[in-house]
Amino acid sequence: MDTDTMTTAKASAPSPVLILLGPPGAGKGTQARMLEEKLGLVQLSTGDLLREAVAAGTDAGKAAKAVMEAGGLVSDEIVINILRDRLAQPDTAKGVILDGFPRTTVQAEALDRLLEEQGQKINAAISLEVDDTEMVTRIAGRYTCAACGEGYHDLYKQPVTDGTCDKCGGTEMKRRADDNAETVGSRLKAYHAQTAPLIAYYGGKGALQKIDAMGDIDQIAAGMHAMVARAIA
Ligand code: AMP
Repeated sequence: MDTDTMTTAKASAPSPVLILLGPPGAGKGTQARMLEEKLGLVQLSTGDLLREAVAAGTDAGKAAKAVMEAGGLVSDEIVINILRDRLAQPDTAKGVILDGFPRTTVQAEALDRLLEEQGQKINAAISLEVDDTEMVTRIAGRYTCAACGEGYHDLYKQPVTDGTCDKCGGTEMKRRADDNAETVGSRLKAYHAQTAPLIAYYGGKGALQKIDAMGDIDQIAAGMHAMVARAIA
């Protein structure tokens, strides 16, 4: 193959697609942000996109708000449309880490069709394996910097200076409306009933990889990085 042909082949190679699976509080968002920084992939969180839609007061946001506050799953139709629009934006050509999508078999099948249309495929679906009993403590204590989104936790990760973000110096911290003990119960139930079956779905396709996500964040990140680097090589 001459150099020109090689360049063309590389430029048109499908961009990586990674899926992070795991219950709320497993650390999908934290790990996706770390992978985004290290590997230049784009984190794509349907939870973030839905919260933006709620804040902007769009029709989708209005329909999603009450369901999200109750800890249920927003309709497949709304979420698939939001994801399709986001995937159509040019920055996703760098490759994407899907955080919180798919959450149902209908969404997984829609994603397969969408990727097939675009000549892409899933490089890996990584399941973050955690112990359910720990999840309520993890979620109820977490908060983020309102300016840059850096994550903190009442018990596990406080900023060095109380109330000031280590990363950007911001002084406004925020907590998600659905990160409370009652809603977490419903979110875990929704995960087990509707999302956990996707572990078998991706296992059947030979795309599943599992990682123990109970330990130290940086150690898990190192394991994830190695796993993802292999999957996108
Ligand atoms: P997350 O930020 O991923 O924890 O999502 C927050 C909430 O947004 C969830 O509890 C659901 O109500 C909704 N949500 C996010 N992603 C999806 C999805 N793929 N399907 C249905 N609902 C979703």
